[in-house]
Amino acid sequence: MNTITNFKNDIHDWLCRNGFSNVYVDCAPDFCYSNDTHTIYCGMEANDDAGLYFQQFIHEYGCEYIDIWYPVLCFLHELGHHMTMGNFSDSEILVLDFLKETQDEDNEYDWYFHYWTFMDEFAANMFVIDFINNKLQEVGELWNILAEHYQAMYADGDIWDYIENKEIA
Ligand SMILES: [Zn+2]
Repeated sequence: MNTITNFKNDIHDWLCRNGFSNVYVDCAPDFCYSNDTHTIYCGMEANDDAGLYFQQFIHEYGCEYIDIWYPVLCFLHELGHHMTMGNFSDSEILVLDFLKETQDEDNEYDWYFHYWTFMDEFAANMFVIDFINNKLQEVGELWNILAEHYQAMYADGDIWDYIENKEIA
């Protein structure tokens, strides 16, 4: 369990150093953010197609860099939810969640590009773009932390049992 604890500690330090407070980090199969517990769940299972689409999406909307590693983008996206969730009322979130669950597209590309424009997703994505364009050094530090710890967590293998039993709050 040490590699997981080390990861959480280093990410939490990065968040504190950069002025992000009242936000916690955990690991799960997929990236997500819990507004109830203010927790960013870091996804451990890769989705390469979604990664490419997301790079394209944020580039289309003004991100100056196109080849940033997908887990870095996902982490910043969930942090973006943390920073922008206050802009939406509970009823707005309920409606958005319903629309997301029922959206239907012919292919994965269209599905993702539509999904990322729902108001709360779009707000999170604007945070990603703004952060990357203005804080490239901090993005690099985050990238190093994620890369180093993902490698360690995959190497010792404890992470698979850990995420299998993970309850998302
Ligand atoms: Zn999201």
